[in-house]
Amino acid sequence: MATKTNKIENNFEKATKVNNKWCLCNENQQKVVFKFNEGYIKFLSENKTERECAAFCCAEAEKHGFVNLDTAIKNKTKLKAGDKVYAVNRDKSVALFVLGTDKFEAGLNILGAHIDSPRLDLKQNPLYEKNGFCLMDTHYYGGIKYYQWITLPLAMHGVVVKKNGTVINVNIGEKDSDPVFYISDLLPHLKKEAGKEEVSGEQLDIVVGNMSFKKDKENEVVIENLRKILKTSYNIEEDDLISAELEIVPAGRARDLGLDRSMVVGYGHDDRSCAYTSLQAILECEKPKRTAVCLLVDKEEIGSNGATGMKSRFFENVVAEVMNLAGQYNNELSLKRTLTNSNMISSDVTAGYDPSWAAAYNIQTDAFLACGISFNKYTGHRGKSGANDAAPEYIAKLRKILEDNKIFFQFTEMGKVDQGGGGTIAYILAEYGMNVIDAGIPLLSMHAPFEVASKLDIYHAYLFYKAFLKDMK
Ligand SMILES: [Zn+2]
Repeated sequence: MATKTNKIENNFEKATKVNNKWCLCNENQQKVVFKFNEGYIKFLSENKTERECAAFCCAEAEKHGFVNLDTAIKNKTKLKAGDKVYAVNRDKSVALFVLGTDKFEAGLNILGAHIDSPRLDLKQNPLYEKNGFCLMDTHYYGGIKYYQWITLPLAMHGVVVKKNGTVINVNIGEKDSDPVFYISDLLPHLKKEAGKEEVSGEQLDIVVGNMSFKKDKENEVVIENLRKILKTSYNIEEDDLISAELEIVPAGRARDLGLDRSMVVGYGHDDRSCAYTSLQAILECEKPKRTAVCLLVDKEEIGSNGATGMKSRFFENVVAEVMNLAGQYNNELSLKRTLTNSNMISSDVTAGYDPSWAAAYNIQTDAFLACGISFNKYTGHRGKSGANDAAPEYIAKLRKILEDNKIFFQFTEMGKVDQGGGGTIAYILAEYGMNVIDAGIPLLSMHAPFEVASKLDIYHAYLFYKAFLKDMK
């Protein structure tokens, strides 16, 4: 969920009864929910960049019998109902297909989530020394509150590509034996007025060293020591950082939250909670009626632009390739019909009501944790600007699927009217004329280094995504 903020605020409040659904689960059902979340917590802890998520998806796809689309094209494989293929775009977005018994032109059932999350990116010339410290310069990615990212142990994930094309994978700060990185803050003893310090985006540079190195007889500099460590420990020259994609993320694993262990706290629930559940849904999808698709894309948090974002032609190109291998790409018209007749769930997170920040929410219409997967007919901001607005005819069909499959769900908005807002990839797919709605997991502290989700909502999102791929007509 990408952010749109403004300063309007008031204290108008309504009352409602919270419909917490845990009490409807018996002990066995609770166990199933907790078990599913063990897998999710492992995924969230071990996949903190879009590249890591894409690699995980491809490995899982292979394990579940999906064939790489490039291989299928090379071998001129004839695809038929029940066949499974996946395509990867620049190692950062993935599309998975399970071919249905219906013709493509009848339309696809599509789940679309994003696998990029807010973070700090290293700039291309990041390394500098200041008064005995060595730091690396960052530029944040996505909508963040600057102050949340300071005084935390941070990890560095990503790739450095050498001039000869060699890719060095970087993952520093996750193992107990690894060092971590840090952005410092001013101690309370030195602040003049309480609450007056503002952190700026430019200030978010990470400390990487404080040890001087005897370069020659006159010079003792910290940066030289860092250059030496980069070279000897990681085979990275300082110049190589120009062709690098290094992301600074919170270090450490996702964890159970609460004495009742009902929630998960971790980095990147937005939108990996919906990506993981959508992925599990398609991995378990067998011979659907309509062709089932799971799209996991990059760049949503910065507007879905770029070759790996939802606005690129990757998706429609890949649909054309799959149709072609299935002998159903007659001309461009058949592709257009396929896309127009499709149904899509934009699997993205939404804001969960937070009792500690009650003034921002409309308790009557906002999503609550532990109340099930949350549907937003529209997102957007200031009178729904920029929103996809799902058709009631489509919503009615979804209600039937939800009820038939006993899924916990809620139909919600995000905060009070004019409080702010957000956007997803929904409107981009809607441009093809297909049915689209946002449906995902409500979060506390969205876009913070550590966000919170309910295990029950995660599990019911998975149940819904599975039912949608199977039952949506
Ligand atoms: Zn987001």
